[in-house]
Amino acid sequence: MAEEPQRTEISTLGEFGLIEYLTKNIEIQNASTLVGVGDDAAVIDHFGRQTVISTDLLIEGIHFDLLYTPLKHLGYKAVVVNLSDIYAMMATPTQLTMSIAVSNRFSVEALTEFYEGVYLACERYGVDLVGGDTSSSQKGFIISVTAIGEVAPDQFVCRNTARKGDLICVSGDLGAAYLGLQILEREKRLYLDDPNIQPELEPYTYVIGRQLKPEARRDIVEWLQEQNIRPTAMMDVSDGLSSDILHICKQSNLGCVIYEDKIPIAEETRLAAYPFQLDPTACALNGGEDYELLFTIRQEDYDKITTSEQISVIGYMTEITDGAHIITKGGNKYKLVAQGWNAFQQE
Ligand code: ADP
Ligand code: MG
Repeated sequence: MAEEPQRTEISTLGEFGLIEYLTKNIEIQNASTLVGVGDDAAVIDHFGRQTVISTDLLIEGIHFDLLYTPLKHLGYKAVVVNLSDIYAMMATPTQLTMSIAVSNRFSVEALTEFYEGVYLACERYGVDLVGGDTSSSQKGFIISVTAIGEVAPDQFVCRNTARKGDLICVSGDLGAAYLGLQILEREKRLYLDDPNIQPELEPYTYVIGRQLKPEARRDIVEWLQEQNIRPTAMMDVSDGLSSDILHICKQSNLGCVIYEDKIPIAEETRLAAYPFQLDPTACALNGGEDYELLFTIRQEDYDKITTSEQISVIGYMTEITDGAHIITKGGNKYKLVAQGWNAFQQE
């Protein structure tokens, strides 16, 4: 017979005992971390560099479903999505704080698993966990992460600085995380109907991985720095390409044209879209949670950019009066809209 997994009630440790237990093995990785967990506040010294801060809230039932999200993956993702925001400023993440509120449904073992994912991400991305807060909640699991990063003075990249004629680039591929979610939701429905059913996830490893365990594109930021390419504007793709590109347009006071056939979509994503009768392009435009980087560059940088297989040039910035459009594979021009499944709206 399988051994019963151990379950330690959080109450046996108490709040301080729990914090101590969850943070006792932290090894500081950054010289800028002067004081970490254990005092009233962390102290970070950036030696003349500038600090970038970003924070996110993740709520059980709204942002994640523990029926199909392993806690270790959740811890990893909670960290990574915050680091993605720091990279999207062309900055380097160095520290983070992790605040959690948990109901008594969760055991010390469950939180240990969650923190395994947190520390794995911290290690992979070279970030120090320097603090947080711990509370009980009446229901469910609430996670708040604040990521802190550094950048050389005035080298950060905002969303409002794209210029007319700049090329629009995106890293990796889009739409996969959304389809991963559709598959997990479908399997959840099947499981709830019949708990004995064996989930059929094998053909969908890629898209499910993109949903449950995303990565932040540190490699792209480092590559751009090595190549001496400074994007004119940048953000990460968290809400879907349409919505995110419209942010750059609005904040930069510009329009844009993107080409459907240039949008990078993985073969696995196309295959996963088929049984749902979803258009892979619509998934890329409206799906979200891809955590790729969306940025604009000057036309002079085109030759350099095309040497990276990880970056696609998908369009260019126009005058604001031209609006924001997508040219489909068939050559039709449609207005880009921020949301919903009516991705293509005839003018
Ligand atoms: P305070 O009462 O000053 O807010 P706490 O007792 O809440 O301090 O926290 C003690 C120390 O542990 C602080 O350094 C805090 O940042 C850190 N900490 C609290 N909860 C967490 C957590 N969930 N993960 C990591 N560090 C935490
Ligand atoms: Mg506190």
